[in-house]
Amino acid sequence: MTRFDAVVIGAGLGGLTAGAILAREGRKVLVIERGNSVGGAASSYKAGELFVEGSLHITGNPQHVRDPKHRALLRAGVLDAVQWIPAGALYEMRGGPVGDPFTLPDEFAAARDALIRRFPSASAGITQWLGDLERLAGTLGDGGLDAVMALAPSFPDWRASLGEKLQALFGDNEAVKFALAGNLSYVHDDIAALWWVPFAMVQGSFLLSGARFVQGGSQRLSSALARAVRKAGGEVLLRRTVSGVVMQDPGAAHRVTHTMRDGSDPQTVEASIVIGNAAPATLASQLPEHQAQLLTASYAERAPSLSLFALTLGLSKPPREFGVSSYATQLLPDWMTTLASYAEAKMLMADEPGARMPPLAIADYTAIDSGVPSPPYVLSVVGPDRVTSWDSLDQDTYRAKRGRWQQALLAHLDRSYPGIAGAVTAAAFNTAFSVQQYLGAPQGAVYGFAPLLPQSDAPYRSPRTALPGLYLASAYAGIGGYSGTVQAAAECAELILQDQPQR
Ligand SMILES: Cc1cc2nc3c(=O)[nH]c(=O)nc-3n(C[C@H](O)[C@H](O)[C@H](O)COP(=O)(O)OP(=O)(O)OC[C@H]3O[C@@H](n4cnc5c(N)ncnc54)[C@H](O)[C@@H]3O)c2cc1C
Repeated sequence: MTRFDAVVIGAGLGGLTAGAILAREGRKVLVIERGNSVGGAASSYKAGELFVEGSLHITGNPQHVRDPKHRALLRAGVLDAVQWIPAGALYEMRGGPVGDPFTLPDEFAAARDALIRRFPSASAGITQWLGDLERLAGTLGDGGLDAVMALAPSFPDWRASLGEKLQALFGDNEAVKFALAGNLSYVHDDIAALWWVPFAMVQGSFLLSGARFVQGGSQRLSSALARAVRKAGGEVLLRRTVSGVVMQDPGAAHRVTHTMRDGSDPQTVEASIVIGNAAPATLASQLPEHQAQLLTASYAERAPSLSLFALTLGLSKPPREFGVSSYATQLLPDWMTTLASYAEAKMLMADEPGARMPPLAIADYTAIDSGVPSPPYVLSVVGPDRVTSWDSLDQDTYRAKRGRWQQALLAHLDRSYPGIAGAVTAAAFNTAFSVQQYLGAPQGAVYGFAPLLPQSDAPYRSPRTALPGLYLASAYAGIGGYSGTVQAAAECAELILQDQPQR
């Protein structure tokens, strides 16, 4: 039986980053991925003539030394393997209570100026809010999550929800709240439950380093990471599903069994350590019962993050010809008059399309030097969704309902950007259910655990698990998204190098 220093379950951003760092440190690494290609959510592909970016709208700029990905991607050897293209601004906010569209620059000083110019009566709150973001994001980039958690004593409102924090700063001024946090779905969907600290870290990181897109799509980053694993002597297996993991006592070799996707051709390898890039619930389903119970119980208080739908549109003309005026737009429906009402949006697709449409995050890949091929001109439209809105439907009913929602979303877009619906020549619509199916992500969670208030004194997130020898390198080990996942994966590799200094 072949013995590896580390076997990684899943070749998403987390698994690949940890695998590349360990391989470059001389460890014998095997990454096993059930999909046809590496990347997990960080993948791009063609659906007919349409280029589909699976996830990436924006991430922070890893070439900035305080971006959470900087050191991780440097250590993985891929920092300069792709082009990080400026997004131009964090977003343009349109609709809802905001009034005229508001553009939030992706840099602290410019953001402060733009916000105070637009909302002069809220200037004290804006200064306070941006100051808090700058401190938290800088600390995250310098020292990681543990360093941020150590700041608790210096914030009297540390345990506030985002809703409470914004209410204290801005009262009922919902327009300024949307201008500051209307891209809520980049983190969570319910400001009453969302802890303000993770939101501040994510939003602050964008403002600290600048918003970026990976030229040519996220697949380029994932493929570069896979190349780094292989170049350092590691192996990456595709179309192989991990079906069984047995963790042994410390010192003994753990066992990982993988099969073809139809369950045929089982093979077992030995591993000094096992790294889960797949969700903890998926890992639990592969473990013997008593080990599964231990792992599951250790995460019992943690809910999965929100899920998203992603509608990719191919247009016969560039989106700017219909009035799309920014790379990243947050389009708010009129019924959303408070930021708290965002929480209702994820339920909308439980029903047939009606008067209420969800808030949409839109990326116009033609507005920057994205490297996304055209024509057709690609527009990505993302919004909050839930697996339960889809998973009880048979295939025909599912497709028909998804088709009706696609039409409704197009009609909605057409009201803001007249003529756009008629220019659609190709479309691909991934729901929360697709995310669950393609990534094996329970509940279609896209950011790991929901970033809620901590319930205990246990570390907020950690690559360590309750089972010695089993680590997490994924969104679940950090605060999710590209930055949170990559940073947590590097921390995972670091812990392993400390725990097992020699080969
Ligand atoms: C529509 C959408 C839009 C997004 N937009 C952004 C954005 O603009 N900016 C941002 O920062 N983040 C964004 N995200 C979130 C970001 O993509 C994820 O948080 C991040 O990529 C998660 O990486 P991961 O490695 O933890 O997990 P994943 O990418 O889910 O990777 C896990 C891998 O494990 C594999 N796997 C699972 N089970 C097994 C098994 N049994 N055997 C073998 N392999 C297995 C899966 O196939 C998958 O490849 C978005 C996500 C989605 C879905």
